[in-house]
Amino acid sequence: MAYKTINPYNNELVKSYPDATSEEIEQALSTGDALYKKWRNEPVASRSETLHKIADLLRKNEDELAKIATIDMGKLISESKGEVELCAMIADYYADNGADLLKPTPITSRNTGDAEVVKEATGVLMMVEPWNFPYYQIMRVFAPNFMVGNPMILKHASNTPGSAEAFEKIVSEAGAPKGSLTNLFASYDQVSDIIADKRVQGVALTGSKRGGQSVAANAGKNLKKNSMELGGSDAFVVLSDADIDKAVNLAWRVRIYNAGQVCTSAKRFIVADNLYDEFLKKLKENFEKLTPGDPMDPNTTIAPMNSKRAKEKLQGQIDKAVEGGAKIYYGDKPIDLPGQFLEPTILTDISKDNPEFYDELFGPVAQVFKVSSDQEAIDLANDSELGLGGTVVSGDPQRGKRVAEKIETGMVFVNSFFISLPELPFGGIKGSGYGREMSELGLMAFVNEKLIVTA
Ligand code: NDP
Repeated sequence: MAYKTINPYNNELVKSYPDATSEEIEQALSTGDALYKKWRNEPVASRSETLHKIADLLRKNEDELAKIATIDMGKLISESKGEVELCAMIADYYADNGADLLKPTPITSRNTGDAEVVKEATGVLMMVEPWNFPYYQIMRVFAPNFMVGNPMILKHASNTPGSAEAFEKIVSEAGAPKGSLTNLFASYDQVSDIIADKRVQGVALTGSKRGGQSVAANAGKNLKKNSMELGGSDAFVVLSDADIDKAVNLAWRVRIYNAGQVCTSAKRFIVADNLYDEFLKKLKENFEKLTPGDPMDPNTTIAPMNSKRAKEKLQGQIDKAVEGGAKIYYGDKPIDLPGQFLEPTILTDISKDNPEFYDELFGPVAQVFKVSSDQEAIDLANDSELGLGGTVVSGDPQRGKRVAEKIETGMVFVNSFFISLPELPFGGIKGSGYGREMSELGLMAFVNEKLIVTA
């Protein structure tokens, strides 16, 4: 039984789940395939009502769903509630816009006939999702593909089975046909077999580089289209004309949100030399005010990390960074609670030869760098194997935008939090993966854009 909920706040084993059987896998594939064929004969708009119903049920069950996510992986209860609301928003967006976005595109051609590109479903999809946003990660793939007409099989992270089960239940209660989304407590080998099956036409993964490489290699071997949303080590660039309070106010929140376990949270703070000392001082002041505790308690402001493994990995990275010459400006002291807590930590003096310089620190640790020009900030931001998101803070939005244009990632925000909304594309370049989720681009990820010419 590899799938287990272990509450990261108190290390209690809440529930273990039975492994998927071969019969369940065959059932998921055959039901999904039959549904794909049925959906091909139904208008896209016919699925919109069910998707709205899913949004309604998410909102109606927000408290219960939030509790399940918090017990599964430890995030603050307010953050879990926000995640459920975001999922409802995504479902409503595709319910309202899916049919329009999937209308045929006419093409003016020198051919005498009428040419158009129609947008059709392709078949069953395999989605592999991580624990850090246990509902939102599913919804990013589910809502658009439900409208497209691609049935889905879900392999969720082994530490968030409660959330996987709860999501599947909401879909079913909303009246979505069987096979729309089938959650399986599948092993890596079973995922490989599913990808190889001829009824599966696409693979979407959000997760680590290691997981992405393995699943993408499998998809490639079987010639299955795939999208990879992998890690990020996003730069947060503070230009010399920035309002320091505004910059710090954005910085500390993004670094500790979800206990710092967000692929797009700023991890490398690159600060102009005239603001560096003040930035560090104010970042520390905000970290000092945080209260670790039960994530179900609304007074808690810093949550435990999602698992013992994750905490130990991050602690090891901090230790390695320090051995390599980095300095602890704040934090790195033990927290006297039984759960997987790591004190928010600020690292400075991380030179390029430090073993952690190129590593993603997936938790509440801020690496802070000092630069003396916009160009130096851009060069440092781009000196990464990853290319997911980024932030630029400047007193002059146009100057901020000019810097943003030079940052090599899939997304950059100027003078704002990184924010994920259904109408905005989400995804990265370089080691952060390829493809986009959400927005019109995400909707098209597993669509057959088929040319029809009628003479
Ligand atoms: P993993 O890649 O280990 O896990 C993510 C999912 O992939 C889990 O369901 C996991 O299953 C599964 N998985 C991993 N390897 C395989 C495989 N070979 N075959 C089939 N399934 C596999 O990621 P982490 O748990 O370490 O998550 C953190 C990472 O994910 C970070 O690097 C982070 O940046 C990245 N991430 C990226 C996001 C993005 O949108 N770009 C968003 C969130 C996180 P199991 O749990 O059973 O091991």
